[in-house]
Amino acid sequence: MVVVRDRERTLGEILATRGDFVGAGTAVDWQEAMRRAIRRGDQLLRRLGLAGSGDGEVGGLTAAERDFPTFVPLEFLGRMRPGDPDDPLLLQVVPRAIETEPQPGFVGDPVGDTAARISPGLLQKYEGRALVIATGVCGVHCRYCFRRQYDYHDTFSESTSANGSHSSPGGTIDEAAMVRRLRQDRSIDEVILSGGDPLTLGDPRLDRLLAAIESVPHVRRLRVHSRMPIVIPQRVTESLIQRLQVSRLATWMVVHCNHAQEIDAAVTTALARMVDAGIPVLNQAVLLAGVNDSAAALESLCRELVDRRVQPYYLHQLDRISGAAHFEVPVSRGLELIEQLRGRLPGYAVPVYVSEVAGAASKLPN
Ligand code: SF4
Repeated sequence: MVVVRDRERTLGEILATRGDFVGAGTAVDWQEAMRRAIRRGDQLLRRLGLAGSGDGEVGGLTAAERDFPTFVPLEFLGRMRPGDPDDPLLLQVVPRAIETEPQPGFVGDPVGDTAARISPGLLQKYEGRALVIATGVCGVHCRYCFRRQYDYHDTFSESTSANGSHSSPGGTIDEAAMVRRLRQDRSIDEVILSGGDPLTLGDPRLDRLLAAIESVPHVRRLRVHSRMPIVIPQRVTESLIQRLQVSRLATWMVVHCNHAQEIDAAVTTALARMVDAGIPVLNQAVLLAGVNDSAAALESLCRELVDRRVQPYYLHQLDRISGAAHFEVPVSRGLELIEQLRGRLPGYAVPVYVSEVAGAASKLPN
């Protein structure tokens, strides 16, 4: 166990100097990175020299983890500062007892996913776009996730196999049924690959899914929503890039990064690979108390993104999912922060601050 009091450096930087950190940029491929990920909150805290400062355990796992397991890849852990319980990356992934306390207004499906289901694994909320729940597996478990209670079992048949990476339901969508449904509606010209995280699918499975979408003549654009390029950047392989490049669909990548500290050299390389390949990359962030609810934190995030040719696209108001109330920032505060960003950054570097309201025809600017 490493106990370090160095608040200036991340765990990865400290261990790299000792030569015993296996993280991004090493020979570990992304599937191995998934297998090595930390799956318990107490282990996460111990790695950061914070043992004993977590919430009480129940039968080995905290009550919060029984509802939504811990899953943190070592690559993401390596960007946290040891000994700092307020580290903005740690706060996003550490389970807390407060998650299990019911809070008024916080519910299981805050954005109306269930009502938007048009076939198993296919949602439609907005005109012309359909969203594919490609898998229930993610490369990290974000405690504020609006799909942390999504019923993936309802989407994927029991017979489909999990990829074994963590305890979220595995399996993937029934492509034939998805294609049939997409063909029925000629107004759908854009498909969004979401989940879970679609880039946790292996290349062969992803290739079949893309081919199925490409077979629908009226679909013109593909949007891939993924946190993998940020949390396990070695997922952005040459073969992935090549597959996206040969698609007949105009392909956009939307990554998810909430704090500048999430961007290290390996993430920079992954983002550059996509941009250099002609794939536009956008970022969506969530406004999170304690993580990025200051003008300095948001400014730094936006600067680091545009320096890497990634456009800050959306800043989301927290979706009011059960268990995430402690992350909420009032909209009035969010508006103040956006106003401050406008005074500090060029217009293209200021994200649109939006809320998602169940049943609304679009995301709503705050
Ligand atoms: S990666 Fe995305 S879908 Fe997965 S837990 Fe995080 S926010 Fe939710």
